[in-house]
Amino acid sequence: MSAETIFSKIIRREIPANILYQDELVTAFRDINPRAPTHILIVPNQLIPTVNDVEPEHEAALGRMFTVARKLAKEAGIDEKGYRLIMNCNEHGGQEVYHIHMHLVGGHALGAMLAR
Ligand code: AMP
Repeated sequence: MSAETIFSKIIRREIPANILYQDELVTAFRDINPRAPTHILIVPNQLIPTVNDVEPEHEAALGRMFTVARKLAKEAGIDEKGYRLIMNCNEHGGQEVYHIHMHLVGGHALGAMLAR
């Protein structure tokens, strides 16, 4: 069993978060430390620690993360100008919370994808 993170508590609504969307597979809430005008995290309800732990049985939740990203980007009014979806994995990827999550960021030009 993998160790739960704060995201499991958010999903179960045991601690406060600005939840924008929730269904049986995924939950989306505002990042507590936004790096762009829109910064939303979309997470599977089931704990998957890193992308390295993804299995075929997770495909429904992973696919739902994209359809929810599309919906929330439209609701935020950033779909036409564009946005970025980011998933960090492990130390070199800069992952801080070991419950996979998709960052939906946008609201202004985000610049180069990576610092050189
Ligand atoms: P990562 O570096 O990809 O693991 O990103 C983790 C993200 O989770 C960071 O952007 C944090 O600001 C965000 N975060 C951590 N704790 C919370 C929380 N309680 N509510 C919302 N976002 C959080």
